[in-house]
Amino acid sequence: MSEPLLRVQDLAAWYGETQSLQRIDLEVHAGEVVCLLGRNGAGKTTTLRAIMGLLARHRGQVHIGGRSALGLVPEKVARLGVAYCPEERGIFASLSVEENLLLPPVLAPGGLSVDEIYDLFPNLKARRASGGSKLSGGEQQMLAIARILRTGAKLLLLDEPTEGLAPVIVEAIGRTITQLQARGFTILMVEQNFRFASRLADRFYVIDEGCVVESGDRHALANDTARIESLLGV
Ligand code: ATP
Repeated sequence: MSEPLLRVQDLAAWYGETQSLQRIDLEVHAGEVVCLLGRNGAGKTTTLRAIMGLLARHRGQVHIGGRSALGLVPEKVARLGVAYCPEERGIFASLSVEENLLLPPVLAPGGLSVDEIYDLFPNLKARRASGGSKLSGGEQQMLAIARILRTGAKLLLLDEPTEGLAPVIVEAIGRTITQLQARGFTILMVEQNFRFASRLADRFYVIDEGCVVESGDRHALANDTARIESLLGV
């Protein structure tokens, strides 16, 4: 198999004196959708934050496109073609949809144009002049994903894109992720919704107490449900 787009080896990370990641090993190949599963507090968000360069204290290795990335500031990681969509979404309430969309800088060639983004998210086009505070949770999530597509990132780190959303919106986010994969984006996604993850993921990793404790492809996810659910505590 070719060199992975993202390779994380023996990654450990701390918040102050508290060690939150013990040992994370994972790979994401170009074009894949890979899900990180795990109980609350397992270390999924921290894994994405460490990859993005948002944690000060860490050990191990992160390679993005073959280049060593651990220890780089977030802007340098972004310039390697990575974008992060955090759980809290971070939509600016006082800015319009379009102003939010135009906010992140373009850091690498090959990003989508605003028109291409509106083709993917017609509801955002219809609401382009609306204020961020007027958007529903689903629209905010769509906008949070949409605005990282301009940056030129090829690897998207999505933290719980379905959290708190109604089933019909979860379906729409699922279709969006499938469309993004079809357009060549690579996605590493934290997801609590096991059924959602099992429909979309090419592969998955289960994280528990800061360690990867299980991994597999979509067949394992479908066939080993009881075991994986027991690891997730559901
Ligand atoms: P969740 O679904 O609840 O977000 P998670 O798997 O994403 O779970 P993390 O948010 O990565 O878990 O948290 C891993 C551990 O790090 C937890 O014990 C958490 O309490 C701790 N932690 C997370 N953020 C901080 C922080 N800013 N400062 C100190 N400890 C933190």
